[in-house]
Amino acid sequence: MPLEKAACTRVETSMRWASRSMTTSFRAEEVASASLTTRRALLGMGCACCFALAAPRAFADAMTPEVERHLAAAKQAAGTDLEALLVLGRSADPTFKAPTPDLEKLMALPAPPAGKAFDNLFFVGGKWVSAWALTTSDGIILFDAMNNEDDAEHTIERGLTTVGLDPSKVRTIIVTHGHGDHYGGASYFTRKYGSHVVASEVDWTMMETKLEFDHPRWGRPPKRDIAVADGGKVRLGDTTVDILITPGHTMGTISPIFDVRLGSQKHRVLLWGGTAFNFGRQPERLQAYADATARTRQVAKQQGVDVFISNHSSYDGSVEKLGAVTAGGANPFVLGASTVERALTVMNECAQATLASWKA
Ligand SMILES: [Zn+2]
Repeated sequence: MPLEKAACTRVETSMRWASRSMTTSFRAEEVASASLTTRRALLGMGCACCFALAAPRAFADAMTPEVERHLAAAKQAAGTDLEALLVLGRSADPTFKAPTPDLEKLMALPAPPAGKAFDNLFFVGGKWVSAWALTTSDGIILFDAMNNEDDAEHTIERGLTTVGLDPSKVRTIIVTHGHGDHYGGASYFTRKYGSHVVASEVDWTMMETKLEFDHPRWGRPPKRDIAVADGGKVRLGDTTVDILITPGHTMGTISPIFDVRLGSQKHRVLLWGGTAFNFGRQPERLQAYADATARTRQVAKQQGVDVFISNHSSYDGSVEKLGAVTAGGANPFVLGASTVERALTVMNECAQATLASWKA
């Protein structure tokens, strides 16, 4: 598979941070389970990898002016259409205690119907965690592989078939980041169809050495295959996916950018690869997240990105939007460049608000 790799200072910086010991807000013993095997012993979890919390409530009153300023900017940028992203601002509330979500329940949610978002982009994921299939002239690029091989077979593979695609044509799986709800099903495709797996160098290392989160029902990390750096490109047939490394959620999170077609129209998509601040109180890491959102906002503006999607549908409303696509009319995935910019501003301001609260 043709693949360009580019060296990047940002990735080197990420690797330096990633080498530090991880301190999550949760401990393995808090979620210990008698059924765990040694191999699958929890390394540390308690918050779902990318868990989106319930609808945002009013922010607490006891905030510093700086925190309030950032939260107000986030709310203004969110308007009414991007409110789902405001959930990130909850961590700026000093009284907020992150809940421990029930991953079993989230993983057990029935999968929504697979569907077509664009002529060459299909949703083949679950209710909680998404998977996207990008069709090319030489097969399929799959973005993320869900929790485990069962998901890969019964949700992704079945979804591909439902929308008329051939699962054996999955040539490349881009794992947005090294958390099990995104890589767990990759081995199903590598074993059955010989698919290649792409991840960032930083997250390959994390998956090989010390998982940040784990769960007994997540598949094992795939074997190291193709490592990409910031500025790299993944090419398959007539299609090129630009690789943006957006450190924060993990230090090697990939946020891919690529073109999609809608009839005679062309649109440019940003798939934000890791959203939640679920890495504990690490100011440098949250600063990296804020920097990544600011940088990506510039990149998106320069490239005319007008579609913003996520790998968890609670953030981008993709499941509801698929229903609207089916019903006809304007494609709800086409947000426009200014809305993509606002989405990145919401995440940026929520990160800055949380950083300010930590410093207060
Ligand atoms: Zn994650």
